[in-house]
Amino acid sequence: MNDVLPDALHAWQHLEAVARELLTAYGYAEIRVPIVEHTELFRRAIGEHTDVVEKEMYTFTDQGGDSLTLRPEGTAGIARALISNGMLRGQRHKLWLAGPMFRHEKPQKGRYRQFNQFSVEAVGLTGPDVDAELIALSARLWRRLGITRVRLQLNSLGTPEARRSYRTALTEYFRAQESRLDADSRRRLTANPLRILDSKNPDMQPLIAGAPLLPDYLDGESREHFAGLCEMLQALEIDYELNPRLVRGLDYYSRTVFEWITDALGAQDAVCSGGRYDGLIAQLGGEPTPAVGFALGVERAVELLRQAQPQGPSGTPQVYVIASAGRPSLEALRLIERLRDLRPEYRYELALGGGNFKAQFRRADRSGAPLALILGEAELARGVVALKPLRAESGQTECPLAELPARLEGALAQARAG
Ligand code: ATP
Ligand code: MG
Repeated sequence: MNDVLPDALHAWQHLEAVARELLTAYGYAEIRVPIVEHTELFRRAIGEHTDVVEKEMYTFTDQGGDSLTLRPEGTAGIARALISNGMLRGQRHKLWLAGPMFRHEKPQKGRYRQFNQFSVEAVGLTGPDVDAELIALSARLWRRLGITRVRLQLNSLGTPEARRSYRTALTEYFRAQESRLDADSRRRLTANPLRILDSKNPDMQPLIAGAPLLPDYLDGESREHFAGLCEMLQALEIDYELNPRLVRGLDYYSRTVFEWITDALGAQDAVCSGGRYDGLIAQLGGEPTPAVGFALGVERAVELLRQAQPQGPSGTPQVYVIASAGRPSLEALRLIERLRDLRPEYRYELALGGGNFKAQFRRADRSGAPLALILGEAELARGVVALKPLRAESGQTECPLAELPARLEGALAQARAG
């Protein structure tokens, strides 16, 4: 679990601001759900035989004897909220949730025990148009952020029935080669054979490559749905790769699944993963409602953003205010507050704690601000403030205090250009 320090947060805030703006533009509304839920919710939603439920959940018993779990993902809580707030009844919802998720995984680069997701869900729509729109939204997010090293992979898992017959074929195939399976895969063979396809063990890859393929087992309607989605993505000129071995780590998916992957983050290649979960809401006791969504891994996306835009947006002050002790420092305090009223678009820093001019100038220099405002007894007596560019050669000028708000923009432009 990591601290996120101010230097890194610029990139986070930029990503969050761009994502919020885009989600609003596509008609998605924010929802906030608790960070803890009853353990039972995740067991039922994510599936008993998934890595997340089997070994990654932070589960504890509270004082009242209830078993609670820190949420490992967002979709289950959103589905629960829709049901418990009576929001279904044939209605449609486009929702997003942002915040921390918790999984007890082996920590490594790009894989943390507390990590953040944007969880984006469209509920009450059968698609494939909404599947395509969601993917278009995620593609636009990469474009807005200047992130180019991502590729889209697609697959369809079909209906639960189609998946059952595929599962039988897969189990037969792997059972015939059981001696070549690693311990994890052997365990999955009876509980969740589809997850074997998701194994990251290189020794398992040749065996996986020879396994039967899911698309060969798809039912007619899922096939049509998938063909429709592919056609729409082509019309939108969104490139994709078909990956017949793409499965997801959570059990609730049906039909469309997709993943944005990257080669820029080492072993952790998934930055945004999603798909359709038409059965989940009914399975949790709500009225049957189709839904589709994705989860964006914020830490991984921030890392891509930092690689694409190394300098990032700056928190450096633009105006640094220096004053001598006594009345001028009082006047400087008033001046900077007045500037914050009248020119709120700039970042100001006051030489807090005072000190002699030399010390204050040193701090102003270190702050990176292009312009210093100086108020001493002499300036105050004449009702002016001195303006000194800190990163350019041009000399010091003066400006009547009352005219400063109007002249600040020009002075800053000059200080930057000089
Ligand atoms: P992975 O295959 O990397 O384990 P996953 O299939 O478990 O991912 P999801 O549960 O679908 O991932 O979560 C959606 C996204 O959240 C992932 O694409 C990834 O970017 C991010 N993510 C998942 N687990 C972690 C983690 N432990 N630390 C940081 N980011 C994570
Ligand atoms: Mg995982």
